[in-house]
Amino acid sequence: MIEFALYLHIPFCRKRCAYCDFNTYAGLEGLQAGYVEALRKEIVLQGSRFARDGHLPVARTIFLGGGTPSTLSVSQIDSLLTACTTSFALAENAEITLEANPSTLTSPFLMGLRDCGIKRLSLGVQSFDDGELALLGRIHNAATAQRAFSLARQAGFGNLNLDLIYGLPGQRLQTWQATLQTALSLQPEHFSLYALGVEPGTPLHHDVAAGRTPAPDPDVAADMYELAEDMLGENGYRHYEISNWSRDARLMSRHNLTYWHNEPYLGLGAGAHSWVSGIRFANVRHPSEYVRSFASAAPAEAALSPSRSPAVQLDTVEHISKEMEMAETVILGLRLVREGVSDARFKLRFGQSLWGRYGDVIPGLLDLGLLEGTAERIRLTRRGRLLGNEVFQRFLR
Ligand code: SF4
Repeated sequence: MIEFALYLHIPFCRKRCAYCDFNTYAGLEGLQAGYVEALRKEIVLQGSRFARDGHLPVARTIFLGGGTPSTLSVSQIDSLLTACTTSFALAENAEITLEANPSTLTSPFLMGLRDCGIKRLSLGVQSFDDGELALLGRIHNAATAQRAFSLARQAGFGNLNLDLIYGLPGQRLQTWQATLQTALSLQPEHFSLYALGVEPGTPLHHDVAAGRTPAPDPDVAADMYELAEDMLGENGYRHYEISNWSRDARLMSRHNLTYWHNEPYLGLGAGAHSWVSGIRFANVRHPSEYVRSFASAAPAEAALSPSRSPAVQLDTVEHISKEMEMAETVILGLRLVREGVSDARFKLRFGQSLWGRYGDVIPGLLDLGLLEGTAERIRLTRRGRLLGNEVFQRFLR
């Protein structure tokens, strides 16, 4: 029976942040109820599509991301989770995560999330410096983020992730250090740290292009990354993926491990991406179009018959060759700092050894000090983590 990581995309935000190029929209609140109904229909449709011999497909993890899933009501979130658990067999101890913007969290909402089965919260904090939060266009300030964290703990959440961003225009090492200190004082179970990208089409990109905001300095960002590695390590966090740290191995993001292991995932909702049996596909991007594609379908409860179900409108479909799947498996696996890519696992999946397949690539990267390896596995070195893209390109012939 096929097992998936399930991703549900919630493409609504109260306001667009200055740096964001995700498929998410402000001002579409009127569409939320219709969107949730369409998403429920897609969950039921995909559950029936991948059922075999009367057995439901397995959901190892469920991740509600966005966007800002915490803009939905508890009853909407509950209805989505109910659709998941009736259309997929939930793995024992399945990780169920919801991304939240600190400014959307209240005690009753958090209690409601716990009651409907959310086990892990990922808080988009980004910084504990109010000036930096304003530059990023975030709708919360540092005090709101700290309060949201306390409320989540009081509501009983024992598995919290903090998202932080470094490498901001004009950001100094000291303010990044102060953000890390505040974050560490909260003792979350998990950290995701991302270097700010200036993406085309964003307000930040316009400001940088017009000279109103300085461009981020990649050397300073590299220093910030190394500082974070040191500070989190000294505080007992395990660096397990290039951008991710957890308090212990049990608290690694199991959902994201599916991506890094290049295993099957189903992305449901507007613009969501999936990877199943050698095919990568993405749903139609705009939420209105997505809702329209389900408008004439039977209600979610009645959609189990495929003949009554609509086809999900796809934006892209890509057939991935075995050659590309091998390269992607290595590239994604190298993101795992400790685990790296296991030769035994690679051989089991592709029928040939890692060293046999990439014997012309690996030795050169070992000589450059970008990889370290044994007969059993290869990993990025600390220097290799800073120059990851250079390493990854070598595997894409
Ligand atoms: S809250 Fe997150 S998804 Fe929404 S606009 Fe800001 S960065 Fe983008």
